[in-house]
Amino acid sequence: MRRMSNGEILARLRTIVGDAHVISDATTATYATDWRKRYFGRPVAVVKPANTAEVAAVLKLCIETRTTIVPQGGNTGLCGGATPDPSGRQLMVNLSRMNRIRAIDAVNNAMTVEAGCVLATLQQAADQAKRLFPLRLAAEGSCQIGGNLSTNAGGVQVLRYGNTRDLVLGLEVVLPNGSVWDGLRGLRKDNTGYDLKHLFIGAEGTLGIITAAVLKLFPKPCAQATAVVALDTPRAALRLLEHLQSRCGDRLTAFELFSAICVELVHKHFDVAAPFSTAYPQYALIELSDTQPGGGVNTLLESVLEAALESGIALDAVVATSGTQAKQLWQLREHISEAQAAEGPNIKHDIALPISRIGDFIERTDAKLAGAFKGVRMVTFGHLGDGNLHYNVAHPEGGDPAVFIARTAEVNRAVHDSVTEFGGSISAEHGIGQYKRDELLRYKAPVEMELMRTVKRALDPLGIMNPGKVLGKLDS
Ligand code: FAD
Ligand code: ZN
Repeated sequence: MRRMSNGEILARLRTIVGDAHVISDATTATYATDWRKRYFGRPVAVVKPANTAEVAAVLKLCIETRTTIVPQGGNTGLCGGATPDPSGRQLMVNLSRMNRIRAIDAVNNAMTVEAGCVLATLQQAADQAKRLFPLRLAAEGSCQIGGNLSTNAGGVQVLRYGNTRDLVLGLEVVLPNGSVWDGLRGLRKDNTGYDLKHLFIGAEGTLGIITAAVLKLFPKPCAQATAVVALDTPRAALRLLEHLQSRCGDRLTAFELFSAICVELVHKHFDVAAPFSTAYPQYALIELSDTQPGGGVNTLLESVLEAALESGIALDAVVATSGTQAKQLWQLREHISEAQAAEGPNIKHDIALPISRIGDFIERTDAKLAGAFKGVRMVTFGHLGDGNLHYNVAHPEGGDPAVFIARTAEVNRAVHDSVTEFGGSISAEHGIGQYKRDELLRYKAPVEMELMRTVKRALDPLGIMNPGKVLGKLDS
């Protein structure tokens, strides 16, 4: 290893990617602050490579100088995974210039894309090829597919199409030793040993830099029906989910739950139309999709919801009569995260539970928190069809948010202990990053932690890739 000054490292980086693509002035602060503004890092520089060869050259330089790397996509991650530490020594590798769609093979139902492609751009490209790329989430206008892959993002159509992990056929990765693994195979069957791509999906940049991927495409639905249903309790929502699944099967593509307080916050901070003239305790947003044109799917949704209203499962329902109205209904759900951010800090939990136990979990955990933290507001919403709740806890109205946030560890303990009692997971779709690293250590079985460390040591013995994220110290 040769010690190099920061100045020398920057000069070498400039020869690799060009002067304009090495940022080392005050604007690095924007890149080094996470979306939630919880983490404020200070990198040696932000480098923006244009292609895989440049990424590999940057990595080799980092090995030579023992400079650690923090990969970054759209910086919409919610666990601080893409934020460097404050040492001024870590290099941020931002993938945004690698934004080419290399190929679309409509017959193979696959597209090969670079890691820096913005998710919404990929949805549009698939649409133009008369196909569907089904990953869909509220950050889709800025998150990048490399970030989606690295966090194994979920979103609102997992119920029908699975997580990002389920949407991948192949990957290209620059490994922590600087070599390039070309696993860009567009195969649906390939049993030639370990399925290596799954190591890098959900690894949050700790095992290498994903530079490209082959993604699955699906037949494009040409008819959609959207509704918001008013409900009394989360248990009623579970009954409605079961009712819809049995009547609509695969046509049910989204089933989102949100409580009255979520809608109140959206209306307080955004100009979004209200679906009902009165407030109800809970709401479900439902979408059916079909590849058959015509109004069949609307008629089906109307009749299924009529039955739900008659049997008393549902209290009220609005079925969108136009695309514009469907968009308005979705806005209600999609603005919740931003409305919460505008309302002030809150303690977020992204949890997974067996779907059947969600009613009991919410009832018991709400009561536990209300008893221990007087006046707290549970802003609970999520992807009910996947058993994934965003169980967020906000400070009491009129109280000092900072005083409440100081009790984060106690709130986390109450929620995550409850999650564990109910057989759940402390991270469903947002990952671990630095935010949940200590919680992972607490709740994951020692044998699983050690297996993960073994993989990390084998692939990244020098600890170059995103140290301190997911795993923490390797010898603990
Ligand atoms: P970043 O934030 O830039 O990075 C995330 C992690 O991936 C970091 O650890 C980073 O180091 C690593 N990384 C990024 N690119 C690469 C690469 N090319 N190679 C290796 N490592 C890399 N998430 C969901 O799952 N479902 C939702 O419904 C959802 N809704 C959201 C709504 C809002 C309003 C916001 C702000 C976020 C939401 N998220 C959601 C979280 C976030 O959008 C996802 O985690 C997304 O996948 C992150 O992508 P990104 O490009 O912004 O990644
Ligand atoms: Zn989500």
